[in-house]
Amino acid sequence: MIAELAKGMGITLKHFFQTPVTIQYPDVQRPVRNRFKGRHELKRYDNGLEKCIGCSLCAAACPADAIFVEAAENTDDERYSPGERFARVYEINMLRCIFCGYCEDACPTEAIVLEHNYELSFYDRQSAIYTKDMLIVDVPVNGRPTPQVVEPGVFTKAIPEMENPA
Ligand code: SF4
Ligand code: SF4
Repeated sequence: MIAELAKGMGITLKHFFQTPVTIQYPDVQRPVRNRFKGRHELKRYDNGLEKCIGCSLCAAACPADAIFVEAAENTDDERYSPGERFARVYEINMLRCIFCGYCEDACPTEAIVLEHNYELSFYDRQSAIYTKDMLIVDVPVNGRPTPQVVEPGVFTKAIPEMENPA
């Protein structure tokens, strides 16, 4: 009996001096792995144009039917993205999303990327639908917001030859 008690106390004492594995979330956040798939972001080129061309391939690839895209036509006086079309509406239902990353794999312009944010709590179903305004990243420092007025004939290709058109 005494021996068992001493053994138990020994184990307690051993753990008492070990570094705790728990962290004080949310004050402290555990870093995630590079390959972690969290909340999506819609990316822009360096000049501010949106990478998304409204092709809906991400929605077609999504096994959870979580993505809704509605495309509209670009003009050179009102250009959101290179090429003919842009995403006028882009929504992801985070209650449906299983964070598989198929949307990212399917995207021909690398517009949709699952980043590292995992803080996705909400109180009602409507708040689980992330809109384009919520998903799109800020305009880069040297870029301009969309829609842009651009020179005719410059951004005719949906996938620009340059990675980041000036
Ligand atoms: S991560 Fe998967 S489930 Fe979520 S929106 Fe993309 S394809 Fe759909
Ligand atoms: S995110 Fe990519 S795959 Fe989805 S509509 Fe935009 S360009 Fe197409």
